[in-house]
Amino acid sequence: MSADASSAPHPVTLIPGDGIGPEITAATVPVLEATGVRFAWDLQSAGEEAMAKEGTPLPPRVLASLRRTRVGLKGPITTPVGTGFRSVNVSLRKELDLYACVRPCRVLPGVRTRFPDVDLVIIRENTEDLYAGIEFAVGTPSAEALRRLVRDEAHRDISADSGVSLKPVSRTGSRRIVRYAFEYARLHGRKKVAAVHKANIMKYTDGLFLEEARAVAREYPDIAFEERIVDALCMLLVQHPESCDVLVLPNLYGDIVSDLAAGLVGGLGVAPGANVGEQAALFEPTHGSAPAFRGSNKMNPTAQILSGALMLRHLGETEAATRVEGAVARVIAEGRHVTADVLPDGSTARPATTTEMAEAIAAAL
Ligand code: NAD
Repeated sequence: MSADASSAPHPVTLIPGDGIGPEITAATVPVLEATGVRFAWDLQSAGEEAMAKEGTPLPPRVLASLRRTRVGLKGPITTPVGTGFRSVNVSLRKELDLYACVRPCRVLPGVRTRFPDVDLVIIRENTEDLYAGIEFAVGTPSAEALRRLVRDEAHRDISADSGVSLKPVSRTGSRRIVRYAFEYARLHGRKKVAAVHKANIMKYTDGLFLEEARAVAREYPDIAFEERIVDALCMLLVQHPESCDVLVLPNLYGDIVSDLAAGLVGGLGVAPGANVGEQAALFEPTHGSAPAFRGSNKMNPTAQILSGALMLRHLGETEAATRVEGAVARVIAEGRHVTADVLPDGSTARPATTTEMAEAIAAAL
């Protein structure tokens, strides 16, 4: 039982998503409720089901709910390739200005990994960069107009058979994400923040990001500051990941390096995340909807459960969050009720289903 079971339930928007989202979300809710913390869930479908029933994967009611509750737990949502529909995930982050994506990557005891000492946090900018979705399709009048502009202003030719994606990076966006990273480091007792960039090549975008990062870093003399070029960082991550602490990155590098870091700590099945802004916070795993496994009840619910633990912490339910994280660690370390992706090497145990693993976690609270 939670110490505050008598207090008002927390209003939370629950978006199960699509693909494997509904089954990992259904497995997660009972674990969070088993802590004794009470929730007033506002269930909101988005993604494929909403598309089929309402003609849009992101009906306005979903955003309205999140604006009301200011907190959401979300399963992954498929982004169909080439349909013209903008990613629901990107739209949610943009609409609610959830500018900071926070992805802690720590090796839990018992997880199969070659890197036992990794404990780093990715802070990814969530609203700008190549991910902003400003794109010009090949052969369109707008692509042609852009080619003319580039010829006139930059004296460079873009070949006529090119598509173009723009990479806007602002001072404001860079400053606030780097400040978020330093504040996070202070709050969580972290020692250093590394700004990750490719400013040697992209001088006016990554260069601006780095310039702002240096300025913000001067305001935090208690936290060490490092600068890392993104390609060199990737090598460092696979050679000495234990030397990384808080990493702050523009959107696209953050997206790619998140999966790399998830791989270091046992895979996408165990990597949670949070999207945070001034108006709301939305908690979801790093992984996607893995559509090929939809309905299999075989995928690991851990990333979604640990995203729920991050949400508990955000709601001030620190003790419940710690209990959930402890229960996950115990179940994985014991290795008897775990899904195939985290089954210990050489184990003869049958892989647990999604539901069985979540039940074992709830029982270990
Ligand atoms: P994915 O993360 O869905 O799956 C890649 C692989 O990772 C899977 O085949 C599986 O082997 C493994 N995996 C993922 N989740 C797992 C889990 N819980 N347990 C064990 N293994 C797991 O990546 P994808 O196939 O590139 O993307 C599928 C769809 O998801 C795409 O439409 C993509 O746009 C979308 N997506 C959504 C989000 C989001 O909702 N935030 C994030 C990433 C991708």
